[in-house]
Amino acid sequence: MCRTNETDPRANSEVQDFLLQWRNDPTVLLVFAKEDSQSDAFWWACDRAGFRCNIARTPESAVECFLDKHHEIIVIDGRHSRYFEPEAVCRMVRATKPSENTVILAVVPQKPPDQEEPSVLPLLCAGFSRRFVENSSVSACYNELIQIEHGEVRCQFKLRACNSIFTALEHCQEAVEITSEDHIIQYVNPAFERMMGYHKGELIGKELTELPKSDKNRADLLDTINTCIKKGKEWQGIYFARKKSGDSIQQHVKITPVIGQGGKIRHFVAIKKPHIDNNNQVHKFNKEERCSGEHFQSECHSLRHRDRRKDSVDARSLSSRGSDAPSLQNRRYSSVARIHSMTIEAPITKVINIINAAQESSPVTVAEALDRVLEILRTTELYSPQLASKEDDPHTNDLVGGLMSDGLRRLSGNEYVFCKNMSQSQLAIPVTLNDVPPSIAEMLNDEECWEFNILDLEAATHKRPLTYLGLKIFTSFGVCEFLNCSEATLRSWLQLIEASYHSSNSYHNSTHAADVLHATAYFLRKERVKSSLDQLDEVAALIAATVHDVDHPGRTNSFLCNAGSELAILYNDTAVLESHHAALAFQLTVRDSKSNIFKNIDRNQFRTLRQAIIDMVLATEMTRHFEHVSKFVNSINKPMAAIEETSTSSVNSDCEGQANIRNSPENRLLIKRMLIKCADVANPCRPLELCIEWAGRISEEYFAQTDEEKRQGLPVVMPVFDRNTCSVPKSQISFIDYFITDMFDAWDAFASLPGLMEHLSENYKYWKNLDEMKCKSLRPPPPS
Ligand code: AMP
Ligand code: ZN
Repeated sequence: MCRTNETDPRANSEVQDFLLQWRNDPTVLLVFAKEDSQSDAFWWACDRAGFRCNIARTPESAVECFLDKHHEIIVIDGRHSRYFEPEAVCRMVRATKPSENTVILAVVPQKPPDQEEPSVLPLLCAGFSRRFVENSSVSACYNELIQIEHGEVRCQFKLRACNSIFTALEHCQEAVEITSEDHIIQYVNPAFERMMGYHKGELIGKELTELPKSDKNRADLLDTINTCIKKGKEWQGIYFARKKSGDSIQQHVKITPVIGQGGKIRHFVAIKKPHIDNNNQVHKFNKEERCSGEHFQSECHSLRHRDRRKDSVDARSLSSRGSDAPSLQNRRYSSVARIHSMTIEAPITKVINIINAAQESSPVTVAEALDRVLEILRTTELYSPQLASKEDDPHTNDLVGGLMSDGLRRLSGNEYVFCKNMSQSQLAIPVTLNDVPPSIAEMLNDEECWEFNILDLEAATHKRPLTYLGLKIFTSFGVCEFLNCSEATLRSWLQLIEASYHSSNSYHNSTHAADVLHATAYFLRKERVKSSLDQLDEVAALIAATVHDVDHPGRTNSFLCNAGSELAILYNDTAVLESHHAALAFQLTVRDSKSNIFKNIDRNQFRTLRQAIIDMVLATEMTRHFEHVSKFVNSINKPMAAIEETSTSSVNSDCEGQANIRNSPENRLLIKRMLIKCADVANPCRPLELCIEWAGRISEEYFAQTDEEKRQGLPVVMPVFDRNTCSVPKSQISFIDYFITDMFDAWDAFASLPGLMEHLSENYKYWKNLDEMKCKSLRPPPPS
């Protein structure tokens, strides 16, 4: 943080030099009715001095020419009144705005030797700046012009330079305060007003001692600063200032004495920006907070060769007063600066830059709101809502803790052992579509209906609904044709996958996979969805649904992490199960050509398909639930709704606009994720009997986990799911409230699913009803 730029007495002359760099050669207007030796002499004098020169013959053309070129010097011929009155011409010029700083020279005739020297007053009153006694020597004219240039014209150029610098001060992002040598505020810039909350009218002319100070500074800080600047040194460090609102703001302050004539300090310039710590947090302390010593660093920079005996500077020149909003400005500055130093811009960087830019031209309230937006954007947990405290709703808390986290990561040495409970004999049963027993075939005729009873199919197929339903659905979507594989390969693959689900799990078994496959196919047939996706997307979705929970151990990710299972270690406690489902699905598929449904597609197509399947399986992981739903709503539903709302013209062009949104590759990805997520947890939208059965199954699986956690002394990740105490209706209400309602509202808005929403509402009422009856089980007690 140490700076080496020292201010020294040279600074003053450096400023002079700097201001002079802004100088241009002056332009000269000669107002002479007739060309003669005098006008020629000025002409050649201009030429020698390098000044540009115009000549006007009449008062009117003089004014016109001046208004066009804004000459710094005007020479008016005042020797004869035959053509024009020189005073009248001068007044005409002075009547124009740009003449304010113009030097106007009157050329007067030589006085006869016997006459008194005439008074210059009438000329001054007419607006002339100087009098030049006629002299047609080019050197005399040249001397006159360069004297003017060195004097008034240079001052004028400096003034113009100051104007530009003043404009820069007005627009810069750092707060600037200029005080006089006796600590009276002379100037504050708009950034200062914003930072401290004051209007400049409340500050200018006030002595610094009159303004409230923060009591958070270390006791000796003001003395330190005072001593430093008294010695004629520049000080910079961290300082607490009190804003008009009373709040303290921690600032990085740099205070520089400005040296005037004779090396005397004439002003102090304080430049302030909010102090940003290593975490890029601006320190805005409340009145109650106390500062600690390590906030302060102070640096002095020597001012050499200076008269500094009398000039004591009160450190109060630092006690800033200011606004609530404006720390924004400076923080923005630093974040933009940081971001600009990056070579490759991430999208979030672009977003932050856009918001930063918008803040620049926003009113304070908007800028403050945007600042809060920026704070949120800088966190990594963008999509996870803040959880309610444990006392608020233990069911929601347990579900969220159990499904959306990786648990406490307590390694116990217990290892997850693959459940090999599918007997080989079951695998061996030959199945072809032609072989399907008539009762099952008949059942499958209802497959396209949402109310299709998967539990009946589970019973009829001896817990092998996935193979039968898979054959039916994959055939109806032309999967074998797309993959260029035989029905035998598909059949073999379905059997293999189904066999790798654990029938011993009460919920995560192949019936759940079949249920998700059913919902997936149902959604894929919805018009909006169908027109958004291509066949590869459809095939990927069907395969993903089939494999999405393969080899699920009936335990949650949190459990596996807490138990230090092999899988948790393999996948670094991150999306453990979903990673396993996706990886195993591909391992199983390509292991044996007999069941390799991908064996006949080309490499590129395989890669694309594989990517889409993996993405969908990983999307079923609940830690990113809110991210997927929010992205879907923001990128698809909202823009589509906007088109619908503004639709004035032809229906066709609106549809085209919406199709453009749906069909982009990024948005198709979001649609596919949403589709499989909704299919995965659609059980609360199924007909009541199915919904109750699924609730019973998932509860039983959770109970079994809690039992095992207790048995093994592992942390109980969802204590409400204790079979002795759990209220299933309450857990379902929480699950629906937290995960289901918003997601299905969004999916329904896109895909139009009135039937599902009707079931959801009925089922919710059912659970509410039970809960009101204080019933904790799946069904109301039988009437006594
Ligand atoms: P998956 O493991 O892929 O099936 O992901 C869906 C998540 O939602 C799982 O963690 C399930 O345990 C959970 N889930 C699904 N349905 C319910 C339900 N009715 N009640 C509570 N949790 C459920
Ligand atoms: Zn699932």
